[in-house]
Amino acid sequence: MKVGIVGAGFVGATAGYALVMQGVGRELVRKNMGRAEAEADDIRHAVPFAHPLEIRAGGYEALAECRAVLLCAGVGQRPGETRLHLLQRNAQVFREVVSAVLTNAPEALLVVASNPVDVMPLAARFAALCDAPPGRVFGSGTTLDTARFRSLLGSYCGIDPQHIHAYVIGEHGDSEVLTWLLVTVGGMPLESFAALRGIDLSETVRQEIDHQVRSAAYTIISGKSATYYGIGGALARIVKVILHNQRSVMTVCVPTPEVAGVSNVTLSMPRLVGGNGVLQTFPLPLNEQENARLCERARVVRRALDELEDE
Ligand code: NAD
Repeated sequence: MKVGIVGAGFVGATAGYALVMQGVGRELVRKNMGRAEAEADDIRHAVPFAHPLEIRAGGYEALAECRAVLLCAGVGQRPGETRLHLLQRNAQVFREVVSAVLTNAPEALLVVASNPVDVMPLAARFAALCDAPPGRVFGSGTTLDTARFRSLLGSYCGIDPQHIHAYVIGEHGDSEVLTWLLVTVGGMPLESFAALRGIDLSETVRQEIDHQVRSAAYTIISGKSATYYGIGGALARIVKVILHNQRSVMTVCVPTPEVAGVSNVTLSMPRLVGGNGVLQTFPLPLNEQENARLCERARVVRRALDELEDE
């Protein structure tokens, strides 16, 4: 099956590489000539060491018949810049990109990576005046943050993160909510697992992990200007779930009638994702503090969306 990527920067290129490494899809088209051609050539040379995919660069018309298109176009986050500050700049990019994608690939599912990723799926819908089901246009949301949480917990507890069920919900980055009370390891609540293994889970330890998850992007950006391996892996996984209708639970963001008492907002929650995109949102039993934080961020995102709608 054919997969498109719009935006041949760090994130788009790394997502392409991750798709080849994982053998997801059959044909990969990268929008934008120049850099995209160079990236396509470079990634193609990894094919003999990975999986047999066709990779090429092309214009929007080359996206015809794509099953999924990753939207990675946009301006990157500057050091110290919040994702919500990026909104106006990237909404402008999406005005150009989304309708061109849907004209050429009307059946494609659109997966948004561009920041602020909590808002951009709705920006994409405005840009295209799109009346497709909301689950067909969604963002990677806190999929990456959830992976960061699981990987830090895994290395701290000395266990494969694939056996840790943990979710980061809400806004991607800055004010996300780490649902500590719901973490399970090998079917046990985290507390029980830690007690069994003699692992210190004091408040200081939790705060340190929490801080590292929340500030990961800023730390990486200050060290090397951009983050791309984690999100590239996350996007490849999302595409795999779509192409194989894997019905996985992922913390993606999608326009939702109500989150934490706020209407029509796009925050990340655990969601069932399959071949037709987002199928269902799972409510989580949150404590008062987590619910209050989620509600506060839902209001912030709603305000950003209002500003976008008023433009
Ligand atoms: P980058 O600057 O390396 O690449 C952006 C690409 O978008 C460039 O190739 C540029 O040519 C292209 N582009 C810009 N305007 C365009 C337009 N109008 N039409 C077509 N293409 C256009 O940036 P990056 O590091 O790859 O990041 C891309 C986006 O992904 C940013 O918004 C960034 O903040 C976001 N991001 C998201 C996550 C996440 O977890 N969702 C993680 C990292 C980065």
